[in-house]
Amino acid sequence: MKLILANPRGFCAGVYMAIDVVDQLLHLCPGDPIYVYHEIVHNRHVVERFRGRGVKFIEDLSEVPEGSMVVFSAHGVSPAVRQQAEQRRLTAIDATCPLVTKVHNEAIRYAKAGYQILLVGHLNHQEVVGTRGEAPDAIQVVESPADIAKLVIHDPSKLVYLTQTTLSTDDADVIIKALKQAFPLLKEPPSSDICYATTNRQRAVRAIAPDADLVLVVGSRNSSNSVRLTEISENVGTKARLIDDRSELRAEWFDGVKTVLITAGASAPEDLVHDLIMDLIQRFGGEVEQRDIYREEVEFGLPGTLKQLMRDRGVDPTGRRVIRQDSGPALDTWLQERRIPHRTVDLTVGATG
Ligand code: SF4
Repeated sequence: MKLILANPRGFCAGVYMAIDVVDQLLHLCPGDPIYVYHEIVHNRHVVERFRGRGVKFIEDLSEVPEGSMVVFSAHGVSPAVRQQAEQRRLTAIDATCPLVTKVHNEAIRYAKAGYQILLVGHLNHQEVVGTRGEAPDAIQVVESPADIAKLVIHDPSKLVYLTQTTLSTDDADVIIKALKQAFPLLKEPPSSDICYATTNRQRAVRAIAPDADLVLVVGSRNSSNSVRLTEISENVGTKARLIDDRSELRAEWFDGVKTVLITAGASAPEDLVHDLIMDLIQRFGGEVEQRDIYREEVEFGLPGTLKQLMRDRGVDPTGRRVIRQDSGPALDTWLQERRIPHRTVDLTVGATG
């Protein structure tokens, strides 16, 4: 069997940062309870691994004892949650991805300027709930073109759209086109709100999936960007399956399949991809081809509150451990050690850095 590995795949800069935050706290405050509001990132394995190290994931700040430490997840929170944390005298470490914060800031700015905001996204997704909370009176959520008829618009010349960071670019294009048709004066955000990681992972799948009989996406079902990768694949006509790990593989998926494309959502750890490759090679034999479509060199610094906490405890934040360097051997080395035939095809069309 030919296994094609999409590049980029897996962890994005926001996920590296958010995981690093919790990891740093575990080292910095051994024995102290660490609470995380919502799943730190939407991946079952990441959450279970932290849970195994004593981290408590909570859905309501009332579960956190007064005066304790709480981490806000990568998806961001509304001002009401930040306020509640203050009232409970919690030390809040905000691991919100800076690209989500960018959308929050746009929402605040446009609402202050008197705009109504059409937020394209999934109504109940934590990121959308957080962004909406910045200006609840000014924001209406648009999940599909069918929602347009229900919008209440006061002044069509004072209207802007923003988007959730992890949408399918295919779906977003359809919705935005319909919004522009309905409201020709609709203003656009200064730059795309769909983040670089979402865009690049989708680009890679769109480019490679036509060469595959099956696409396997490693990621959790509540991971928006992982689910979107399966949709992009199906949009180009290749059946896709979303799996948390190799234990979910089903033999019948592989009837008549000669080429499999493997990718991973932005919150899926790379070791799960390695396990999946090993499983498929053991079942079917074959070779691995890495296809480089987009190069990413983005990195986000730790939040200021965490850096301060580190200084207070005598740890120099500049010498911090970067989880990226810690996340196992590069795929080439890993394949070489296991004598799995492999090659890399450089089809790079751009870089984000
Ligand atoms: S998927 Fe995008 S918005 Fe979400 S954490 Fe990663 S970089 Fe940030």
